[in-house]
Amino acid sequence: MCGVCQRVESTLGQNYPFFIHEFKHSIFVLGDHQIFKGHSLLLLKNHVRELHDMKRDDYLELSDELMVATNAIVKTFSCYKMNYQSLGNMEEHVHWHLLPRYRDEKHFGKAPWEYYMDDDFNEVEFKITSEDALRLCSQIKQNL
Ligand SMILES: [Zn+2]
Repeated sequence: MCGVCQRVESTLGQNYPFFIHEFKHSIFVLGDHQIFKGHSLLLLKNHVRELHDMKRDDYLELSDELMVATNAIVKTFSCYKMNYQSLGNMEEHVHWHLLPRYRDEKHFGKAPWEYYMDDDFNEVEFKITSEDALRLCSQIKQNL
């Protein structure tokens, strides 16, 4: 079982503090690390390796789920714009990263991975507690 399948299974099987919503095709969860406030993920529930491997109707419905999730993030965090990542190099299972971007951030106007290239970057500093996750997820749920 791949890492995303494990996360989907464990998220749906318990009261996971990072869980936001279950859609028909995907689950919507908050990211463990909040480098970008509101960073969340949409994880396809079925194991499909690539977007182009999906049935077209399922893909269109997933796109709608992505739009609904995005609108909740934008409304909650009043970000300037959204970045989306669906790379799948480390986890070969369809998923999206939703990355809110802000005008006052350090690397405004640049790719999200600029942060990872900073000499003093330490991802652990951005890990949030279960309590913070519950609070943020509650805010996002109100805007779904
Ligand atoms: Zn999988």
